[in-house]
Amino acid sequence: MSPAMHPDPDSEEAALERRVAELEQALKASEESLAIERLKLQQTEAALLQMAALFGNAPVSLILMGDDGRITDLNAEAERAFRCRREAVLGRPLEDVIDPVDREEARRLIAECLEGAVQRGVERLLWPGRACGLEDSTLMFPIRNAAGEVVGAAMTEDLTEIKDSRSLLATVNRELRQLAVLDGLTGLVNRRSYERVLSREVRRAARSREPMTVAMIDVDEFKAFNDTLGHAAGDAVLRAVADVLRGAAQRAGDVVARYGGEEFVAVLPGVDAEGAARIGERMRSEVEQLAVPRDDDDSAVVTISVGLATWVPYRDSAPPKIVEAADRALYQAKDEGRNRVVVVDLGRDGPARSLGADAGSSKHEAS
Ligand code: GH3
Ligand code: MG
Ligand code: MG
Repeated sequence: MSPAMHPDPDSEEAALERRVAELEQALKASEESLAIERLKLQQTEAALLQMAALFGNAPVSLILMGDDGRITDLNAEAERAFRCRREAVLGRPLEDVIDPVDREEARRLIAECLEGAVQRGVERLLWPGRACGLEDSTLMFPIRNAAGEVVGAAMTEDLTEIKDSRSLLATVNRELRQLAVLDGLTGLVNRRSYERVLSREVRRAARSREPMTVAMIDVDEFKAFNDTLGHAAGDAVLRAVADVLRGAAQRAGDVVARYGGEEFVAVLPGVDAEGAARIGERMRSEVEQLAVPRDDDDSAVVTISVGLATWVPYRDSAPPKIVEAADRALYQAKDEGRNRVVVVDLGRDGPARSLGADAGSSKHEAS
């Protein structure tokens, strides 16, 4: 303060106080920003520790190199794969450690990678015909800084190929399930094995000249049910219907299968027309008694229609003939208003009747 201004001691003191207060505030502010910096540092430290733990414990081999192709780090899995100790290989050229069959080829791959090229299938180039340190296919890729410049490279197992082979595995599994015996949703026999069972039972009935029945079962207006209540609820209905059908046809030799979608088929050896009507009605009424509501404000419940065909086959009887008859009976049940049972008795099959059927009298048989 200028002496020409005749400073008032009071105001000088006041100015001093103001200055002290300002300094205190500045101190507080820098303490606060220091605390924030300390927190950031702690967070960075924690993140680094996490990264180090991730790198160190990753179950895949990871080798990092600088832009001169020399190793800057490698994890425990890589130590194991290449039978080396980290301390012994840090700073050494990558090709020294991975021991490629062709060192020139290795140097070329590394150089290209450090120029930005991602190298896939490296194991086929570096260790042809020999088990390499990395178990699966190997990937070498450039590491870039925030500005996008290559500052090093890493080598690791190529998980994209593992992912591809996983999806291949899923496809193969799906196909295997189709080949397998049981339907995945309901646990019933699937269509493929049902066809084998049907042929076997037709041959058996032809030998013993005993009746057998095939039942075709279809859930009524199931598309509307799915559309209203959803596919998951629809699947639950299919499982419940499957349980009822299994319960209604449980004599030794009875086989209930999922024919496809909301259609089921049962092969019932030794069952004549009278038995067929009884079993069909049991299936129909028990599904009705499940009392699964069709929608929220309606008393309507889920029902099935059942078509059954009975015959005594002979030696040359063609299995599709009985199935087609059961199918026609089912469509008759649908036509007559659904939630009902129609039985068709084809009687004793034989060469003459079979020829008649082939000549086109199938409509006559079904009605
Ligand atoms: P109908 O009484 O004449 O048999 O009529 P519908 O609606 O049952 O017959 P449609 O053949 O038109 O529809 C069958 C529906 O069954 C189509 C589909 O929504 C459903 N569906 C088929 N398979 C499945 C399945 O695995 N799960 C579920 N939730 N629905 C299925
Ligand atoms: Mg249906
Ligand atoms: Mg159908």
